[in-house]
Amino acid sequence: MSDIPLDEAGARLVVDLGAVADNYRLLAGRAAGAECAAVVKADAYGLGLDAVVPALVAAGAHTFFVAHPFEARQVRAAAPEAVIYVLNGLAPGAAAALASAGARPVLGARDDIDEWAALCRARDQRLPAAIQVDTGMNRLGLAPDEARALAGDNRGALADFELALVMSHFVSSEVPGDPRNARQIAAFAAVREAFPAVPASLANSSGIFLPQKPFLDLVRPGYGLYGGNPTPDKANPMRPAVRLEARVVQVREVEAGASVGYNAQWTAKGRRRLAALSVGYADGFPRAAAGLDGRPGGHAMVAGARCPIVGRVSMDLLTIDVTDCPAVPQRGDMVALLGPDLGVDELAAAAGTIGYDILTRLGTRFARAHVGAAAGA
Ligand SMILES: *Cc1c(COP(=O)(O)O)cnc(C)c1O
Repeated sequence: MSDIPLDEAGARLVVDLGAVADNYRLLAGRAAGAECAAVVKADAYGLGLDAVVPALVAAGAHTFFVAHPFEARQVRAAAPEAVIYVLNGLAPGAAAALASAGARPVLGARDDIDEWAALCRARDQRLPAAIQVDTGMNRLGLAPDEARALAGDNRGALADFELALVMSHFVSSEVPGDPRNARQIAAFAAVREAFPAVPASLANSSGIFLPQKPFLDLVRPGYGLYGGNPTPDKANPMRPAVRLEARVVQVREVEAGASVGYNAQWTAKGRRRLAALSVGYADGFPRAAAGLDGRPGGHAMVAGARCPIVGRVSMDLLTIDVTDCPAVPQRGDMVALLGPDLGVDELAAAAGTIGYDILTRLGTRFARAHVGAAAGA
């Protein structure tokens, strides 16, 4: 991770590891009876895997999911005892490297399975792996019938490795009323019968809040750990874990009719006071959160007041309207763009995307700090 001093950066990203740990405990408590793993792919959703993984281990996490083998190596360095699953399966020829990192592939097709089995035979070792079953996503995984056939084939590939987990993934668990949830739960239960002794996993963050409580043996939250709302139709039960603050570069007053930013997409209706902040789309701040004439965008929090973004978001700058702010911000002040009162889900909604997209794009130009008990700060 980059180590940029605050006085050399335009913005600061503060990650609250205490909140991540609290979120882990809340999710683990809700799913009590099942093991609570942690999904830390994409640099722990942009929060910094190297810092997040030890905080999660301290909170009780033992099993981690990543997307790629190099991420498994990062987790291994941060958590020597962890069980690590690689969700994207086995790329051709990748089995040996993955095994040497002590990681377990999530096998989703016959070719993956055969390669892992071949490695196990060559090493004369029954290495652990998971199998993914597709119950509706049509993305990765064996069809339920294929999985059942595999389970019934005693001399097949499954005999060569240790099947440590059978898993599937929800299509719309954040929409509790979606009938697909119940259909996937039923389809997965039928698959599970073919693997009676194998631990099973279905729920992501939102799955942990479904009324059916589909916790099984292991739950796999990601987003909720990082403060995202797994229950979008209800108040967020999670603690916010990121604060993004950008420096005020200039404050200016403009007259009615003045436009702001590229292509003059926002026009002052009266005399307005504006502040330019040193953060932009090159920092991962969504360009789609621009505030345009006839289409409001995102906000910043200044002295407890919500100040709208006005005009297009530039590469390294954006402008907010601070006219109605109780305190006039000064050059050098830090202004919040994400934080306890301005969540990732809210910014995502303003930008027409999801909070996952906001978090995982958080850029590399910030002065980053990890705070909270586990950070020792
Ligand atoms: C990313 C991912 C998760 C975590 O999902 P969240 O919605 O972030 O909790 C769980 N399982 C699989 C297969 C994933 O790809």
